[in-house]
Amino acid sequence: MFKQLITIILFVIIFTNISFTDEGMYPLSEIHKLNLREKGLKISSKDIYNSNGVGIIDAIVNVGGCTGSFISSEGLIITNHHCAFGAVQSITTKENDYVTDGFFSKNRDEERQAKGLTIRITEYYRDVSKEVLSVVSDTMEFISRSKAIEKKMKEIVLETEKNNSGKRAEVSEMFPGKSYMLFIYTFLKDVRLVYVPPRSIGEFGGEEDNWVWPRHTGDFSFLRAYVAPDGSPAEYSVNNIPYHPRKFLKINPNGVEENDAVFILGYPGRTFRHRTSHYLSYEEDIRLRYIQELYAWEISVMENLGKDNREVAIKHDARIKSLANVEKNFRGKLQGMKRLHLADKKKKEEEELQRFIESDAKRVQLYGTVLSKIDDVYKEMRANAQKELLLDNFRQSSTLLNTAYTLYEASIEMRKPDIERESQFMERNIIRTKESVMLTLKNYFEETDKIFLKKFLLDALSLPFHLRISAVDEVLQGDSSEKAIDAFIQNAFQHSQLHDEKIVQEAFAKYSDDLEKMNDAFISFAKKLYPTYRELKEVRQRRDGELNKLFALLVDVKKEFQKKEFIPDANSTLRLTFGTIKGYSPADALYTSPITTVNGIVQKNNSGRENYSVPEKILDLYSAKDFGRYKTQKLNDVPVALLYNLDTSGGNSGSPLMNERGELIGVNFDRTFDATINDYAWSELYSRSIAVDIRYVLWILEKFAGAEDLLKEMNVTK
Ligand code: ASP
Repeated sequence: MFKQLITIILFVIIFTNISFTDEGMYPLSEIHKLNLREKGLKISSKDIYNSNGVGIIDAIVNVGGCTGSFISSEGLIITNHHCAFGAVQSITTKENDYVTDGFFSKNRDEERQAKGLTIRITEYYRDVSKEVLSVVSDTMEFISRSKAIEKKMKEIVLETEKNNSGKRAEVSEMFPGKSYMLFIYTFLKDVRLVYVPPRSIGEFGGEEDNWVWPRHTGDFSFLRAYVAPDGSPAEYSVNNIPYHPRKFLKINPNGVEENDAVFILGYPGRTFRHRTSHYLSYEEDIRLRYIQELYAWEISVMENLGKDNREVAIKHDARIKSLANVEKNFRGKLQGMKRLHLADKKKKEEEELQRFIESDAKRVQLYGTVLSKIDDVYKEMRANAQKELLLDNFRQSSTLLNTAYTLYEASIEMRKPDIERESQFMERNIIRTKESVMLTLKNYFEETDKIFLKKFLLDALSLPFHLRISAVDEVLQGDSSEKAIDAFIQNAFQHSQLHDEKIVQEAFAKYSDDLEKMNDAFISFAKKLYPTYRELKEVRQRRDGELNKLFALLVDVKKEFQKKEFIPDANSTLRLTFGTIKGYSPADALYTSPITTVNGIVQKNNSGRENYSVPEKILDLYSAKDFGRYKTQKLNDVPVALLYNLDTSGGNSGSPLMNERGELIGVNFDRTFDATINDYAWSELYSRSIAVDIRYVLWILEKFAGAEDLLKEMNVTK
């Protein structure tokens, strides 16, 4: 009875009373303030980041939006299977199905270019808040405020890159309207695939197990960074040589145990913990639902088209995977918001804050209308959401329309001085923009494109009159019947040449007049849509300018009220988070322990479900108890995945999980379903992240793949 009571109380605490104040993604600028030894680590913050020497951060890379770490002096990187998936798909054919079978280069010559992936290593940072904010004034119009900040950030970036040849600079907003950091990165452009396990290991459990614990996914892969023979960063070339990092992580094949202290350095993408209840309600009521339903539908269309045709399925593989990942994540978020009454809780906090403001005349003057003005901005967003969400997703849904739009925009932007261009068309970014268009084009499948385009045209036509998109009415010449839509689509696809990679390559250099001469229905549609997208951009710049000012005030008054400093939301810059290997209670009377084993793989495999079918060899190794040095005495098995209470987000995929001494013992790849809500509100009670245990990775390399050379390179001896 007593036990039951405790469980009920725990459950009530977990799911009703969470706080918004727990944060653990420390930026570089905060690390020196931490006493890591007190947190259970045997290293100091200086070992992690040393501005005058080498630190662990020198081994941490941002790889195509994920994180990875150097694990050899020859530029070998470990990251997730799902982070290399797109690159593997780009070299996959029906004959060489690397997605299904995995990729294994027996020597350096066999390593293949990982298209679409680049690497960043953080070198240096500097607070540039004063410089950035020097261009704004209180009386400025909101749109001018946004534009001025954007321009200043670009100027700082260009100036820094000019003075640091070969490096990449980025100004990152830490607190909107308050603090901005300049980061300088080493930027490597030649990345290659080294070893990627078969899909049945790297994606074991499929979408069924994604965002789920207990987990048995071997979500790891190996890449290598290359540079020019003189050591400078260079585009892919056969003459390039492996990059020698300043630091690489030592692998500890003995792993960790429950309750051991661990930490992660990585590049979490975006969190929104400092946003208000207005934002949370908008997300919950409108955006998350819209995207979740849209993606679920798009996935079902693509799965259907590819179900009996592997060639078609290969084209859709990476797109389905990334949509499915977001779709399930958003379902988790929606569930979490409801479970935790997140928006309501935030609203109550804001009411308290408002009372605090109103208790002092000076505060009223400074902050009295901050919350109500934020509310007004979100009211406006709600009123226009149907149209804006449609526009946000329209272009990407059709590859040909997206290609046409990018070409059309490029033809205008590329004639402007570099600094005035949209960021993706600036000299420093244009190669990647083209590359991404070409990679998407490679996966073009006409039938899918037609179905998606039709859906969006129908949706556009059903918008209320005041939100109508004139370009759509124009291309259909005022005829909104389904017949007219079908005729437009039929004609557009029949005559378009934009599926031809060579033609698209050439079209990148064209002026808008010449593009129009191509007489392509998608180009003329893009031209008609262009003013609508420009208008939307300006509307958003105006809103951002206003929120930029309001959020800055909000942080000021919140600090005064709560008497504490805050950690900025994640923004793809390097962060530290620490904690312990630890289970949790996801629901009443349930407790999950934090380490899974190969036995779990075998059990799942025995269920006979498709997502759980592993290579026969794994089953054989298990029945022979051929665990090598990777078995733990306690579990009498090889550990597969680890659960821990660190604060992670998307972008932390591939981050090294390190033990108290900074040795690599796992690779972070996911969170539990309950923890998808982390991005809005983190809590030690329910936030858990997941890594693949290094012992499982090494076991696969040694016993399954026979990758002796890789093990040697990582200094792992049998
Ligand atoms: N699996 C995750 C992702 O897709 C990692 C995370 O968000 O925790 O980004």
